[in-house]
Amino acid sequence: YAQVAEARVDSVCPFCGVGCQLSYQISNGRIVQVDGAPGPANEGRLCVKGRFGFDYAHSPERLTVPLIRRADAPKDPALLTRGPGGRADAAALRAQFRAASWDEALDFAAAGLQRVRDANPHLRGREVPIAGFGSAKGTNEEAYLFQKLIRSAFLTHNVDHCTRLCHASSVAALFESLGSGAVSNPLRDVEQAELIFVIGANPAQNHPVGASWIKNAVERGARLVLADPRRTELARQSWRLLQFQPGSDVALLKAMLQVIVAEGLTNPDFIAARTQDYEAWRAELIDGPVDYSPEAMAPICGIAPDAIREVARAYATSRASMILWGMGVAQHSHGTDNARCLIALALITGQIGRPGTGLHPLRGQNNVQGASDAGLIPMFLPDYHRVTDPLHRAAAEAAWGLPAGSLPEQPGWTVVEIIDATLDGRIQAMLIQGENPAMSDPDSAHARAGLANLQHLVVQDIFLTETAALADVILPASAWPEKTGSVTNTDRTVQLGRKAVACPGQARADAWITEQLARRLGLDWDYEIAPDGSGAEPGSAIGRVFEEMRSLMPSIAGLSWARLLAQGAVTHPVLTADDPGQPIVFVDRFPTPSGKARLVPVGLLPPAEQPDADYPLVLITGRQLEHWHTGAMTRRSQVLDALEPLASVSLHPEAIARLGLQPGGLARVCSRRGAVELALRADAGLPLGSCFIPFAYVEAAANLLTNPALDPWAKIAEVKYCAVRVEPV
Ligand code: SF4
Repeated sequence: YAQVAEARVDSVCPFCGVGCQLSYQISNGRIVQVDGAPGPANEGRLCVKGRFGFDYAHSPERLTVPLIRRADAPKDPALLTRGPGGRADAAALRAQFRAASWDEALDFAAAGLQRVRDANPHLRGREVPIAGFGSAKGTNEEAYLFQKLIRSAFLTHNVDHCTRLCHASSVAALFESLGSGAVSNPLRDVEQAELIFVIGANPAQNHPVGASWIKNAVERGARLVLADPRRTELARQSWRLLQFQPGSDVALLKAMLQVIVAEGLTNPDFIAARTQDYEAWRAELIDGPVDYSPEAMAPICGIAPDAIREVARAYATSRASMILWGMGVAQHSHGTDNARCLIALALITGQIGRPGTGLHPLRGQNNVQGASDAGLIPMFLPDYHRVTDPLHRAAAEAAWGLPAGSLPEQPGWTVVEIIDATLDGRIQAMLIQGENPAMSDPDSAHARAGLANLQHLVVQDIFLTETAALADVILPASAWPEKTGSVTNTDRTVQLGRKAVACPGQARADAWITEQLARRLGLDWDYEIAPDGSGAEPGSAIGRVFEEMRSLMPSIAGLSWARLLAQGAVTHPVLTADDPGQPIVFVDRFPTPSGKARLVPVGLLPPAEQPDADYPLVLITGRQLEHWHTGAMTRRSQVLDALEPLASVSLHPEAIARLGLQPGGLARVCSRRGAVELALRADAGLPLGSCFIPFAYVEAAANLLTNPALDPWAKIAEVKYCAVRVEPV
């Protein structure tokens, strides 16, 4: 391939939050090969998704023309699984729609949204019956424009994205304690750590290049502690493996905290100088009504007291200890409490603010950090400026040309709340850009019914996804390699994705679509974004969007579009033009009003749903190495789909034998909300009482089973824990 390539274009991987830089090789207008490039997060390394997951962009299933639902085609969620092998019949889905011109489709999309707004002129704030889901798979500029469109056109903050189902709980806890929701240290700081504590994460599958840095650190002498209900691949590198009971994170972590306090292993100088509320926090832990000693917590978390003590001592006393966590911590009805405990570990030991220390919630999507930074969340404007703050609302109104006082002070609804509201009519119209809630939302049957219930659903995407199949109008959009824009990885590093190939057919750049909708909704936007996603030079339309966004974001005040074009990667905060960027933060103060971090006590809460005689197993959902999220891209990538073509449920081999089944056979998994049929896979790393299903497969959608119970602080759903039964088919 390398010999026939006509051009090389450097960009960023479109999948996980590690943010590996890569180089597309182009021949005859198509990507023919991907090589690793020397970016700060990967130094040329790529995993199988980054290297082989590129041909989705050239899939014959790409949407190439705007589509409008036929008058005689009612929205029917059952169509999503009525085809061969339980997948949708693509032709049947397509037959629900007719081709339209761009003008007709955009007019139709905007008119439907405006009709719902006009029918409810008296409603304000979150009561406005319109909501938008933006995307963590697009660029920062696209996220910024999308939230600006929803807020400006409808005067509501009902705008959110997949961060709500990802690290919302981590961000809530980090904000509350530290005044910032982002990571404190970059992932590659594991190279500086003496002890690496990985909990509720499977980086070898979900952040593979990140895992490679962890393995290298272990080879150089770092101790790895892996805490997870599943024994995953990194167990081979681990110094200690804590295979705790699903949902018992708080019990394990509070026992570790109790050991550190009771044995005098805290860092009193750091506590005195850098934290607040320590005495009240300590009193709850040591003198409160609950005994959090390892002996008391061991029966709950399933880890022997000596093992808890050993790990707690090692974490507290190492020269530099770093914590990394993932969805296993975040996606619980007590996810915020889980994260509060991890924050407390770092604070009471002073393991933060130095190289090789700190807190790193591993971001799942390539731009979930950037989309959140850009304001694609219902409680924050760009740069996490609270919508409740009149000064920040006034700044946004001035920048966006809105009348003073027009933006509401009430935060909008979150993802799961919005889906609930589609069922009872509080939300009647939606604009969804590049997200697939029909697959990603908990209790998906409920989500699909809600989407089908909308008076007007506009979906902007690259494929006829399960969500698009329920739309009134579908706008064919750009894939990642078809546009230029910035993207921010898990390390807070802003990088540049560059246009490598053309959009197919009549598909258009997402930012162009947003601007066209805005104009039809009466907004005076004059960016003049190119329909083909071209134009990146200083002064270009996308450059001007970035500069407008930067004017509202002090954290990137020193990062001009021209500087980003020249440097390609800069880590925020970057406050001035000569600030090189700050990979490690909280060095001498926290961005809180007092400059100190807060310690927040938490109690012990069980998962929202418990196994019983009818549903005796715990279902854990997640990703797998070859497929990413709802599978819309990776299942249309030839190599990745060939490697993992089948939906499967993993169980311990003994659990499979008890069912009288064989690995490779078919099983039915039922929860209180639904049932799916999939192949059985033996995995001795799973506890006997649990099973695991990846959520990328529409023919056996894991989220048909999951529990929509929410964490009260962050509104994240408990998709990591629900009760199920596995039975022969
Ligand atoms: Fe892409 Fe993540 Fe793999 Fe890097 S580790 S190549 S960013 S999927």
